[in-house]
Amino acid sequence: MELQELARDVYACLQPDRGLGTSNSGLLDRGGGLVVDTFWDLPHTLRLIETYARVWKAPARRVVNTHHNGDHCWGNQLFPQAEVIGHRLCAAAFGREKPALLQAIRNDAASEDPAVAALARLLADWDFTGIEPRAPTTLFDDRLELDLGGMAVHLLHVGPAHTAGDVIVHLPAARVVFAGDVLFRRCTPIGWDGTYDRWIAALDEIVALAPAVIVPGHGPLCGVEGPREMQAYLRYVRAEATRFFAAGVPALEAARRIDLGPYAGWTEPERILFQVERAYRELRGESFDAPIDVMALFRGMHTLREARGRGA
Ligand SMILES: [Zn+2]
Repeated sequence: MELQELARDVYACLQPDRGLGTSNSGLLDRGGGLVVDTFWDLPHTLRLIETYARVWKAPARRVVNTHHNGDHCWGNQLFPQAEVIGHRLCAAAFGREKPALLQAIRNDAASEDPAVAALARLLADWDFTGIEPRAPTTLFDDRLELDLGGMAVHLLHVGPAHTAGDVIVHLPAARVVFAGDVLFRRCTPIGWDGTYDRWIAALDEIVALAPAVIVPGHGPLCGVEGPREMQAYLRYVRAEATRFFAAGVPALEAARRIDLGPYAGWTEPERILFQVERAYRELRGESFDAPIDVMALFRGMHTLREARGRGA
């Protein structure tokens, strides 16, 4: 993982995008310190802390979670003294993902179910043992403004886009935005609770802040071209999915047939299945937080990967 100084007392810790779980984090090293997102497991979060310890004098006294997915908050317990801040809906969703379940899948590389065995291989770098999810206890609804030793920090709720409780962190003076998983950069987005319209609007909100640097939840740093390209992707996939839906094509088949064009080079292109499913849910009139059969989608993504491997 790599530490980048973005402005005075403002840092990003970037994990190279190697697929599932390789998220980014931020450090505001002023006024007691604030960390934006921890990592997916304890070993990676320990390395994050070692990385930040190169610049901070003492561990940060605040942690902000941009949303509830484990790859942004399962290291929270390694900041035992910190106030943990998040959106009310982020805290409410905290128990949904279970470290023990992921660890069981990770250990099941010999599974007879090829989709489970493939998922186990994707999780091989992670160790979900010992995680005790620690939810935010300082909660807000629309926005929360902090003053870190003279540095204004704005926490803005922009969900339901990637999840219901999506928060971005804006530093107006430094012109930096930590976007959490509202923005994936050069990797295919995956979305949970939310709608296309809200996600596109959330990306508009990031562009409207006119940031010089955006730290995406996954992938490399970018400027406003990042959210613009992701908007174009979402619009394209929604339009294609709408066409296939009208023709009665099942979601998995639609995901296989959509021509990815310029997006074929983004990592994990098979995640398009999540976006097609979201479009289909919306076209069926289901609510933004209708339950998702996650294992079925991961099975479908495995099928797409295999089909691509065969050149089908
Ligand atoms: Zn993530």
